[in-house]
Amino acid sequence: MNFEITEPKTLPLETNGHVLSFSGKTEAEVYFIAGIPQVSGVAYDCGVCDERPKYRVTDTAIEVENPCPYPDGLTTEITLEVPSGKIVVTDDLRLYRYDDTGFASYNSALGQAQAIQAMAAAGCAYGPVGNTCPGLYRTGPDTYVVARPGYDEDDNPDLPEDDSLAGIVTDLWAYSIADFEHWKSRGGDPETLGWTETVVDITPGTYRFTHHTGERDFDPDAPGAVVFAHVERIA
Ligand SMILES: [Zn+2]
Repeated sequence: MNFEITEPKTLPLETNGHVLSFSGKTEAEVYFIAGIPQVSGVAYDCGVCDERPKYRVTDTAIEVENPCPYPDGLTTEITLEVPSGKIVVTDDLRLYRYDDTGFASYNSALGQAQAIQAMAAAGCAYGPVGNTCPGLYRTGPDTYVVARPGYDEDDNPDLPEDDSLAGIVTDLWAYSIADFEHWKSRGGDPETLGWTETVVDITPGTYRFTHHTGERDFDPDAPGAVVFAHVERIA
């Protein structure tokens, strides 16, 4: 065996659809130990699919052999039944939990999508929002967004404050929304609701939540309002 370690060199990185750098690096360093390429300066696992890249190094590029299964990222849709016409809105409802055995890392878009689906199966519309303080805003008769507003030079928000139905503190970096009666049936006690939890009246029905943070072009730092999820009554 030849255990020679080569000098590192910088080559263009062809990611095959994976996200290996959130700053958008297009190059990486590579060196070889005993003929096996060691790529440094980028993530070990894809930020979308959580897979580890299998590298092939040519004279002109570092290429990832296995393609990303989600080259556009992930949009996650769930439904929430709201027969009571009341929802409780906060960051963490605590009574709703899921088993993440076998899930991808929560640091990946896939792991977050799996968490969203598992929480929905438990009866809670949940989604990550990063370290923002978003709100639930009405956008139409039976449509809403979970969003954080942008502000102009005079600190005026671009989402009307009159349309804000609930603010969401982000100790958990997420929103959690459930049918008020379902939440009570799970042991939720309205007497214990604090200032960080809001009960909102909405039309009874079935609501679709379309969560966007896993999408490839989602930018949490975009100027102007950032919409984490669209919410609409579908039945
Ligand atoms: Zn990937």
